[in-house]
Amino acid sequence: MTHRPHHRRLALAAAGLLAGLASPAMAQESPKFELPVTCAVGTDCFVQQLPDMAAGPETADPFCGGATYDGHDGIDIRVRSMRDVAGGVPVVASAPGTVKGGRDAMPDRLASTPEARAAVAKVECGNGVVIDHGNGWETQYCHMRRGSVAVKTGDRVETGTKLGEIGASGMAEFPHVHLSVRRNGEKLDPVTGHAVGSGCVADTTEAATLFAPDAAAVLARSTTAILDLGLSDAAVDYDRLVVEGGPAAPKAGGASSIVWGWFANLRAGDTIAFRMTGPTGEVFYEGSSEPLPGNKAAYSAFAGRKRPLTPGRWTVSIEVIRDGVAAVRGERAIDIAA
Ligand SMILES: [Zn+2]
Repeated sequence: MTHRPHHRRLALAAAGLLAGLASPAMAQESPKFELPVTCAVGTDCFVQQLPDMAAGPETADPFCGGATYDGHDGIDIRVRSMRDVAGGVPVVASAPGTVKGGRDAMPDRLASTPEARAAVAKVECGNGVVIDHGNGWETQYCHMRRGSVAVKTGDRVETGTKLGEIGASGMAEFPHVHLSVRRNGEKLDPVTGHAVGSGCVADTTEAATLFAPDAAAVLARSTTAILDLGLSDAAVDYDRLVVEGGPAAPKAGGASSIVWGWFANLRAGDTIAFRMTGPTGEVFYEGSSEPLPGNKAAYSAFAGRKRPLTPGRWTVSIEVIRDGVAAVRGERAIDIAA
């Protein structure tokens, strides 16, 4: 009897050795992927879309939410606007490997019209890089800024090696990097480790992330975000936000006093609560939107009063109310010059 534990340990050790030598088992071992960006997710850049795990025309992100669209096969991490792109936001290798191919000459042009979309229909990735991580594992990085790609075919890269910069080349309606992961040609959702289109997981314990713990923690957070908020003296145009970023604070005067917000991944039924506090501390405006009729991947909204802005320090705050509680909240103090 006293020998049994010893025998059992030997048997386990032998099984482990065999598994380690067998090549099919090796091929299943995932590299531990890191995020393909160095920007602060949730502050300077944002998770906009995840893979679509629903097989048919329905959509479901990896955790059965709405942060995806039909047929999407990767993770989109965005910056706010083309102004951020001009500043240069690095895209980096998610794991060590060898550069398999790339493209760098396509223009950064938001695919916001049918004509612009048609022009990139056959080159949706835009400026991209593919990295071979060995054992059948590949990552692909898309939509990089023209002229930013910093590696060439055959280059060895390590985790964090700069590949290029976030841009809007190819099929990009907002500036972002798209990361997709493949194993032996099969598209995988790196958040759950499951094949793209194979179904979402309502219970997160069923996920087997391909990401290193710090990256996995970032991607497990809610994708609902306030991209920006501020004060204006006129209506705010969504199409300009994605090009220029949020408008600078106006001077005092003007026709109206407006609080505006810019959002990622709002859900049907969400309401937006706005509040403006004037320089003397009085609540100048407080109000809520109607519940949203559908999910909104990216959205802007504003509210306020037809009265001029007065000089001094204002405070604007916005809450996204979901199921009766604030899902996200943003607040900013803004100085209005005379
Ligand atoms: Zn994408």
